[in-house]
Amino acid sequence: MIVAFTDLDDTLFQTLRKLPPGMEGLTPATLGRDGQPHSFCTPAQSALLAHFVDSGVTVIPVTGRDPAAMARVTLPFTSWQVLDHGLTILRPDGQVDAEWRGRVLEALSPLQEALEDCTVSISELAEALGCRLTRHTAHDTHFMTVFKHPDANAASLGRVQNALEDRLKSREHADLHVIANANNVSVLPRHLGKAEAVRYLRGQHFPHATLTLALGDSLSDLAFMNACDLAITPPGGQLLRTVSAAKLPQR
Ligand SMILES: [Mg+2]
Repeated sequence: MIVAFTDLDDTLFQTLRKLPPGMEGLTPATLGRDGQPHSFCTPAQSALLAHFVDSGVTVIPVTGRDPAAMARVTLPFTSWQVLDHGLTILRPDGQVDAEWRGRVLEALSPLQEALEDCTVSISELAEALGCRLTRHTAHDTHFMTVFKHPDANAASLGRVQNALEDRLKSREHADLHVIANANNVSVLPRHLGKAEAVRYLRGQHFPHATLTLALGDSLSDLAFMNACDLAITPPGGQLLRTVSAAKLPQR
């Protein structure tokens, strides 16, 4: 059995803004809140998915999307699903995996105070910089705070990121970490996420998989990609951009 654990946004599909103008052969992959097609698969992304399906590969989304945002994905996923950055696992029948939910709630409980401290201490600065703060929950429990800038202002987001990292350091919140994307900065658990969910699924439900593939575009995907046999990442994604910019010694 071959299992492909795959990030969604900017890995399997993306918005038109991120594609060359006038690109042909696009397939709608998600709907926006207005019900109109929002993200699209390129012909290459569609071919990869079709190849997986045709050859019997089990495809498991591993995404930061919450259940509501996942419901707007129109690609046909039929197996397990990892949502909420790993904090929610849905079984193939669509029900929440109760055992994983129990483990997550146990791990989140001691982090609540630190999460709230980071959120409250940065909120004033974030507002002054034009960033919108959202507390994200999984299983009705706060697990992440996202600071989003409507125009993806890099300077504002950078200041929020620095302030968050300083706060984590000064208060010794070692179990939280900060991740950054194009238009947002988030603080979330360091040891509870996509990688732990993938390891749990591999151990509990796919112990006999002969090959596990990991597909992702972002630094925040790296840990779960390292938990699989082979990693696939798109050119121009955050991961390859970072690697390309690294000054590696030539040996
Ligand atoms: Mg992504």
